[in-house]
Amino acid sequence: MRTDIRRYFTRLPWSPGTSRPSTVRDRFARVGPRLTLLIVVLAALLPLLGLLAEREQRAAGVRGARAEAQQLAEVIAHDVGEDAAGGQETDPARLRQHLEELRAHVGGDIEIVDLRRNVLAATMPEAQSRQLGADAGGQIAATIRDGLPRVISHDAGQEVLSLVVVPIRTDAGIVGAVLLDYTDLTHDLLDSGATARRNTIIAALGGMAVALALGWALSRGLVHDLRRLTAVAHRYAEGEYDVRAEVSSRGEVRELAAAFNTMAERIAERRAVLTDLATTDALTGLHNRRAFRTSLARDLARAERGGDALALLIMDLDHFKAINDEYGHLGGDAVLRHVGAVLQRELRADDVAARLGGEEFGVLLPGAGHEAAMAIAERLRQAIARMATVYQERSVAVTASFGVVAYPEHGRTAGELVERADGALYDAKRAGRNRVCAPEPG
Ligand code: GH3
Ligand code: MG
Ligand code: MG
Repeated sequence: MRTDIRRYFTRLPWSPGTSRPSTVRDRFARVGPRLTLLIVVLAALLPLLGLLAEREQRAAGVRGARAEAQQLAEVIAHDVGEDAAGGQETDPARLRQHLEELRAHVGGDIEIVDLRRNVLAATMPEAQSRQLGADAGGQIAATIRDGLPRVISHDAGQEVLSLVVVPIRTDAGIVGAVLLDYTDLTHDLLDSGATARRNTIIAALGGMAVALALGWALSRGLVHDLRRLTAVAHRYAEGEYDVRAEVSSRGEVRELAAAFNTMAERIAERRAVLTDLATTDALTGLHNRRAFRTSLARDLARAERGGDALALLIMDLDHFKAINDEYGHLGGDAVLRHVGAVLQRELRADDVAARLGGEEFGVLLPGAGHEAAMAIAERLRQAIARMATVYQERSVAVTASFGVVAYPEHGRTAGELVERADGALYDAKRAGRNRVCAPEPG
């Protein structure tokens, strides 16, 4: 039985026969490291998404500032163009005043240049203006030439300035360009979005922490339960048939534990059936010779340890051959079954009645001394002599002879006791049968 179950378990990857994973690859094949990696990767995606969102928000801020700046520059270019068409372009002081007003409104420096990139009016510091003229000349010239607005990123030492260039048009065509520094506008827009971006990053990091914690708790429970299941299976394979799996996880792991427990129950039921078959006499339902020997050894050990009394009787039906001859083998079997039923009825639950073979029976009487055992044997003898087995509408009578011994006066070992009981039984037969005998003293 035990080897059968071991064979069943050796088919599983974590059977006692298989060594534990040793290489890095094997170790990584385990659920714990895999889950940990998966959780870390998934959790790391959250701040990554947060960073992407933050970048996108920033880029949107920069685009928004540029669009707004371009729109403002175009309004200015339109005004200046109309003025120029009205012949007022030659009044730099008026233009400059107009620009100052606009600057206060826009929040960025403005410069107006003519077709040759000469500065007509500007709120820009002169150094910046000169630098622009030299560095970004290509861009400004290109806008004057093709009339398309452009953006200039201008490195002004500490920070990168962002400017937008739009052409000034009159009916006669392009007459110059407006340069608008929208660096501050960009800063304003980015500053206003800073809180939202910070919250995005914090939420992403918080999400990562929560995902890690949840993942860790989940995987810990799962791995813990799998280890417990494995340990239970190992113990079962080692012969602890009453262990049962208990898990805290729900779902498949719980189903696995339940399946294991069902399997263990079924095996236990089959073991019980097999044990029963191995220890029961099929004809009478009493114990068989093997169970009688096991019980005798156990009761003897108990009597030795605790000084309890123990008696034993062996009983053989008289002239049974004649019954078989007269009523047939089946008639004999009916009598044997009847005797088994009488024994069971007359004895206590602690007593062990067994059919030792043929028409020979043995009874163990734990707690009984020799005198009590003689009385019990006499009671059994009378009960059997009284009983009438009805077989094919005929009544079959039988008697039995008994040999009764007690521990320790008639022997200290199972062998000695059975031998003395057999001797007493032989005496009973010789003395005429249907009687109870004890061994001769000495
Ligand atoms: P004694 O009084 O000396 O014991 O005489 P006996 O006839 O009982 O003794 P013996 O050992 O000569 O015969 C026992 C008979 O029991 C022989 C055998 O056919 C019969 N027997 C053994 N086992 C079974 C069984 O399972 N069923 C039946 N019906 N008869 C059995
Ligand atoms: Mg007999
Ligand atoms: Mg016999």
